[in-house]
Formats: sequence, C-alpha cells, structure tokens
Amino acid sequence: MQDRFQRQINYLRISVTDRCNLRCVYCMPARGVQNIPHREILTIEEIAAVVNAGVLAGIRKVRLTGGEPLVRRGILDLIKQLSNIPEIDDIALTTNGILLGDMAIDLKAAGLKRVNVSLDTLKPARFHRITRGGRLNLVRSGIDTSLKNGLEPVKINTVAIRGFNDDEIVDLAKLTLDRPLHVRFIELMPIGTSDAWSRGKFISSQEVRELITGALGNLIDEEKIPGSGPARYSRLPGAEGTVGFISALSNHFCATCNRLRLTATGQLRPCLFSRQEIDLKQALRAGAGPGELARVFQEAVMAKPDAHDLASGWQKDDRIMSQIGG
Ligand code: SAM
Ligand code: SF4
Repeated sequence: MQDRFQRQINYLRISVTDRCNLRCVYCMPARGVQNIPHREILTIEEIAAVVNAGVLAGIRKVRLTGGEPLVRRGILDLIKQLSNIPEIDDIALTTNGILLGDMAIDLKAAGLKRVNVSLDTLKPARFHRITRGGRLNLVRSGIDTSLKNGLEPVKINTVAIRGFNDDEIVDLAKLTLDRPLHVRFIELMPIGTSDAWSRGKFISSQEVRELITGALGNLIDEEKIPGSGPARYSRLPGAEGTVGFISALSNHFCATCNRLRLTATGQLRPCLFSRQEIDLKQALRAGAGPGELARVFQEAVMAKPDAHDLASGWQKDDRIMSQIGG
C-alpha cells in the first residue's frame, strides 16, 4: 500500500492488550489505568482475521506489543496463527521481559522470530523504582534465554532519561561488546503520563552518542540490521552487537514511516502521535469479510499524516502508550 506521500506501508504494530504487569513511571500512572472491559478487546481470532485482511492490503510484517503482550492469554496461539500466514515474513514482539525467561522457548516454537526487550537500567533498585516494582534479574534471564533460543536479533530498548539513567548509558552500550545484543537508545517522548514528562528529562540521541564515544571511542556506522526500522545503528570497534539511536523528536523519521497501529480495542491508528482512529472492530463485528476489512486498512493508510509535531510538546491523548501499543 502506498500512502499520499509515496511511503510503502507494510508493517502493522498490534497492541494485544492494554494490561501490564509493570507501571513504568513514564508510561502509566501509579495506580494504573482503568482496565478496558474484556468484550471491548479484540479476541485472538479477531486479531488473526484483521492480519489476514491486512495482508490483502499489503501488510507483510507484524509486531505484537501492548501493554505487556506476554500477559495476554492466548498469545502463543496468536503467534501460531500468524506464522501460518505465508505472506507474513516477520513476526516480532516488544516486551518488558518479566515473563520472557519462562516463555522464550514456547514463543520460538510458536513461530516468533525475534524480541525487543525494554530495559532502562542495569541497577536492580533503579529498575524497581522506574517500573514501580519490577525485578531486574527476571529481565536479564529473559534476555539470556532469548539469545540461547535464537529469538534473534535480540534488541534492547532503552529510554534515555536525564537524571535517571544518563550515568549508565556507557554501561548499557558495553552490553554490545561481547554478545550479539543491539542496544537502542530511544528519546523520551512527550506521550504517556503527563506528570512524568518534562523537557528537563529529555536527552537527545546526539548527546547519548557523545557520552558513548567520549568514554569508549569511535562508533562505526553500520548497515541496516534485520528489522531495523527507524533506528540508526553503529558499532563499537570489535563489538558483537550494535548501538542504535531512535530519535523520534530530534531527527524524526516520518519520511520513511512504514507502519500502522492496531489498538487493543480494534482501532487502526495511522500515526502514534495523531488522535485519529479508524474503527476496524465495528466493521469486523458487523460481519465484514476480508475484502471489506482490507478497504478499512486502505482508508487508514490514506489518513497517514506526513509528519508529527511532537517537538512542540506534550499532546493530550485519550489513550496512553500501553493502550495504543508502543
Ligand atoms: N510492555 C512492553 C514493553 O515495555 O516493552 C511493550 C509496550 S511499551 C509501551 C513499548 C515501549 O514504549 C517500551 O520500550 C517503553 O520503554 C516505550 N515507551 C513508553 N512510554 C514512552 C515514552 N514516553 N517515551 C519513550 N518511550 C516510551
Ligand atoms: Fe508496561 Fe511497557 Fe508501559 Fe512499562 S512501558 S508500563 S512495561 S506497557
């Protein structure tokens, strides 16, 4: 599918649940958010039907996210169903890693290709603080089990936050030295819990890069690695893995955006940062067939804006990141 700005849209990010087993300070309020009633959330069969229709409209890659996708009942079954769709050539998952150690083998067997694990600190007490209760050792063993079982490339997503983990950026980059890990530093985005957002906490990718090169020497620019999306990759000399930078704000990548998002409640979002949603669930539950649903996909593609305007500050959104699918 080509949109109005000549971009090829072939990638669907699916929020399989709004629920999460953590409460990261930049993503969710301390008390959590009101759970959406189960009947409003797409069933596993409905998600599979949506992807089958998306394929008719040109979708070739999917990512399962949330909320926390590994707390969704039926996630293995969904992955199995998606891996049986011949046109889908990549199935990836973004997780906080808490349940990954227990599930990596089954995820691989179900047909998952690779994982991105979110990890903002290597210090257990800090991890506990930023996730409001998470245990770091579970995430680290999830990463180890994923590497051991070939859920590769294993990427680590680190949100760089001034005053929180800027003193660990070099240590996080060092994770790439002797294992094939791809650590991507993500700019904090003005979305999610409003009180957690402040311009004072933002660190640009350029600054993160300078912190790394200042301590560890040159970074060598890399060709794309599989599923590289919007990140730009570099490598420390002799390192097994790479260091990536995702600059949603300072150097946005809208011109090469290839994605649509499906919320847990079955809305297609043309852009993470636009409030516009196109109701796929209503059509699905009214009995629309694959062809009709594929037309809803086309409508969403044509609604994609050319670029976001995040740099101008926090945008009020009825949904938070865990509901849209980060
Ligand atoms: N629960 C899963 C996880 O944490 O990986 C998947 C969903 S989470 C919303 C996806 C990603 O969004 C995580 O890497 C998280 O760090 C990131 N994220 C959430 N809020 C963010 C914000 N305000 N700025 C930048 N990244 C954010
Ligand atoms: Fe949950 Fe992921 Fe949001 Fe953290 S970032 S609260 S793990 S959805």
